[in-house]
Amino acid sequence: MTSGSPFPIPLTLSPSRIGSFESCPLKFRFVNIEKLPDPPTIDKYKGTIVHRILELLLKEDSTERTVEMARHLFDAVQYGAPNDEDFAYLELTSDVDHPFWIDVRKLVDTYFTMEDPTTVRPEAMEMRVEHSMGEFKLTGIIDRLERDNDGNFVIVDYKTGKSPSPNFVDDKMKAMLLYAWLCKQEKGSSPAALRLLFLKDGKAVETRPLENKVNFQLQRVKAIYGAIKRSCETGQFGTKKGPLCNYCDYRQWCPEFGGNPSRAAVEAPVVLGLKSR
Ligand code: SF4
Repeated sequence: MTSGSPFPIPLTLSPSRIGSFESCPLKFRFVNIEKLPDPPTIDKYKGTIVHRILELLLKEDSTERTVEMARHLFDAVQYGAPNDEDFAYLELTSDVDHPFWIDVRKLVDTYFTMEDPTTVRPEAMEMRVEHSMGEFKLTGIIDRLERDNDGNFVIVDYKTGKSPSPNFVDDKMKAMLLYAWLCKQEKGSSPAALRLLFLKDGKAVETRPLENKVNFQLQRVKAIYGAIKRSCETGQFGTKKGPLCNYCDYRQWCPEFGGNPSRAAVEAPVVLGLKSR
């Protein structure tokens, strides 16, 4: 916190936090600056579980990455899930016929229609990357870094939703372009391709990380960091009323709905039944 700033200025920024600020600065403040409880959602937790299964699968020797192995890993992950806080919060059960687990199985099955995991050459999974951008560090987690047949890096990200229409592909690639830059800083070479695997409809989207597109994203991140910094210094975090408000856990503290944001720090942990982070 600089002297006089009502809120501490973050020293790190990830693509998801950037997206969160763009979606709604006030919600960003609640979640990322004040660290208020951020209740899990079924979709987010489903993503976590699917990522966990695929990470374990790709860590197996290439010949072991079979459908049978994926089923075995599914069973193991499902068995351990009741130890997750999110599992209890979402009131899930271990019943294999629960719609949650049916969906997870479908997503993993769809994965096998998209690529043959025995041919993948993984370099790292769930790889944490970070690099200084001057006043702050850009950080992120790459789902999978692999080598193509020519030995070049390829960054792969799993998405549990549907593939976007062509007009929204660039939007989905924003984070990947930043990962491409982070990969170059950490590994010394840029990836040859960025690939998103949309497991809901089994479609892959791939692009090359062109330098001008990467640079544009870096400039965008710097501009957003500047906006976050100003908000922290002035205490002014705007609202963005829209469809996402229907899913926002902080509506009762949002001025758009007659709430008082300054009460959230005390009331949210009690109302949401979770501790501040
Ligand atoms: S209710 Fe809407 S405008 Fe208010 S904090 Fe939540 S997302 Fe932002």
